[in-house]
Parts: sequence; structure tokens; C-alpha cells
Amino acid sequence: MTDRLISLRSVEKYYESYHALRGISLDIRSGEFFSLLGPSGCGKTTLLRAIAGFETLSSGELLIDGTDMVGVPANRRPTNMVFQSYAIFPHLSVAENVGFGLRRTSQTQAERMRAVCAALEMVGLEGFGGRAAHAISGGQRQRVALARALILEPKVLLLDEPLSALDKKMREQMQAELRRLQRQVGITFILVTHDQEEALIMSDRIAIMFDGEIAQVDPPATLYHRPASRRVAEFVGMMNFLPAEIKAQDDQGATVDVAGLGQVKLSDDQIIGNGPGAEIGVRPETMSLLSGEAPPDGSRVMSGKVDDRAYYGDMSFYQVAIEGTDQTLTVSMKNVMGGELLNPGAPASVAWDPRALLLFRA
Ligand code: ATP
Repeated sequence: MTDRLISLRSVEKYYESYHALRGISLDIRSGEFFSLLGPSGCGKTTLLRAIAGFETLSSGELLIDGTDMVGVPANRRPTNMVFQSYAIFPHLSVAENVGFGLRRTSQTQAERMRAVCAALEMVGLEGFGGRAAHAISGGQRQRVALARALILEPKVLLLDEPLSALDKKMREQMQAELRRLQRQVGITFILVTHDQEEALIMSDRIAIMFDGEIAQVDPPATLYHRPASRRVAEFVGMMNFLPAEIKAQDDQGATVDVAGLGQVKLSDDQIIGNGPGAEIGVRPETMSLLSGEAPPDGSRVMSGKVDDRAYYGDMSFYQVAIEGTDQTLTVSMKNVMGGELLNPGAPASVAWDPRALLLFRA
């Protein structure tokens, strides 16, 4: 396993005067499930298309498996792309669609049929080969598009929001299947998505992009627990932010004063950035609402009042107004069968753990 199947160095892309990719340097490993995640317009599709060879770079380097790809057309690259629209030919059968890319190879008809059957089996469509491509569901069309890309045995499969047209249940099922398929075939998958949950579920590593730049590249749990900036923390999952005042800071950590929480000591690894500003970040699930029980060990308690509640079945998200401040915190709680939900207006004690806080200095 090479550590750098794809290497991008100082990649820039201009669409006339619009600067779409700004100094992108990135290594993607062989056999990993890698996602490009970011808000609409951040440049992730442009980057994926540049790797595929559908966009030229304005400057910078792109190597795949050690070979310079600049000037190499898309059909000569060891990549294959699955588009959002699937691009299935409706007048052909499922098998003809899947075998389409093999038509110019020197394989015999029987060899092609064997490859088509194997690819259909891989995506769970065995027995569907003879069906007209217009007579299958959206989820099945997605599988046909995958089989058609995989049959060419690319080193890298590029996926541009492949699940966005599917309904929620189907999307969840396909997320699991794509992950299983990637492990089974062992090739590198690069997924473009603006859905952070999808990226967290599927990826070995994720690159977060904002405004044509990469903000952070890390495994999902690192992104979530150790975001490199407030912007990443805000984009991945939900986080409360509270203004803080630094009372003391040295290389061991900092003591901060936070409205509603009082004075808190934080260790150095809870501090992100070194700018003049200071804000505390706390995830909703690291706090809990107490209904009479003792707070968990090491935690502190503040009083408030429930402002609002959103019920999600397994979880409830409470907006809690913190006493003596104008701050409202979002606290999430698991719903338990027979457990009582707090209604708006109810007094609420919030337990919070100083070890779960992050201090953003920007
Ligand atoms: P989305 O999730 O909405 O697809 P994205 O992150 O994939 O967004 P890109 O499609 O890469 O974003 O586009 C990045 C920026 O470049 C956008 O502002 C877009 O308008 C611009 N852009 C993309 N293609 C072109 C083009 N062919 N000509 C001019 N500008 C373009």
C-alpha cells in the first residue's frame, strides 16, 4: 500500500477571474475511502473533476500513482467517475449499460458477459442484466452506474454526490453498501458530498473545504473532536459557542471566564488557535439535563429554563436559557422509553464537563 496514490501540490484553478481552487495540497492513500466535504460552491466538484481530467489545472501538480497527470485526458487516467445523474442509457439493457466501457477491449463476448455478471453481483443486481435500464428504480440505477464504473477496474473511483437523488432510507442503505463495496474491492474511493453525516459515516478520512481551500484533513472522529478551527467545528456537527475572557494562559493551558459557566481551567490540548479572540465551544451531547439525580463525576452544574424542545424520536434537543445570562445552549438528551420530556418553561439544571470544552482563539 503506497501512502500517496494521489498527490496534489499547490493546485490553483481559475474560471476566468474566479479563483475556484486556492493552493490545494493533498495526498490520498491507496485503498482509502476519502471524502471532500464542504458547503455549496467551495470547490469540491471542481477538485474531483480536476482529478478525473474533466478540468485542467491553472497551475500546480497532480500525480496519480507517481505519474504526472497534467495533460493526460480523462480516458487515459486510472480513474472512473460516477455522476450525480448516473448517466445511464435508458434504451440499453442493464447488462449493456454495465458492459458499455468494455466494448472496445479485446475481450471475447463470453469474457465480457462473465465480467458483467460479476459486476452486477458485486452491486447486488444479479439477475437484472436483461432488464431495460429505464425500468429500474433510482437505487438500482445507482447500482448500475457503480457496476459500470467498477467493471473497468479503475485505481480510483470518483463519486460526485452519488446518493443525493435517493430518499433518506435508500440513501442510508446505499451508504452502507458503498462502504462494504469499497472494502471488498479495495480501490480508492473519493466522494464529494455536502452532507456531513454521510461523510462521517463512510470515510476513512475527510478533507473539509471552504472557499476553494482545504481547512482540515483528518479521520471523522478527529474532525469532530479536534476541529482545526471554529468554522470546521460549526460545519461538522452542532456546537454551542460562548464568549470567553482569558484570565491566564501558559503552555500547560488556560483559565477562562465564561458567561454562565464561571471560571474554567482548560488544558493545552483543549485550546485551538492562538489569535487574540476567545470563544468556548461545547457540543450538545457533552452536557446533560438533570432531573433530580447527582451530576456525573467531574462535572459542574448551572441553572436555566427550557426555552424550546425538538423531538427526534431517539433524541431530544433542548434550548436552555442560562440563568443570569442572555445565553441559550442547545443540550441533547437520549429519549428513554417511559422517560419524561421537559416542556418549555420547565426549570432545568445543566451538567457540563470542563474536559469537554474547547477554547477557540481566532
Ligand atoms: P456544489 O456542492 O454546489 O456542487 P461545489 O463545492 O462542488 O458546490 P464547484 O462546483 O466546485 O463547487 O464550484 C466552485 C465554484 O466555481 C462555484 O462558485 C462555481 O460557481 C464556480 N464554477 C464551477 N464551474 C465553473 C465554470 N465552468 N465556469 C465558471 N465558474 C465555475
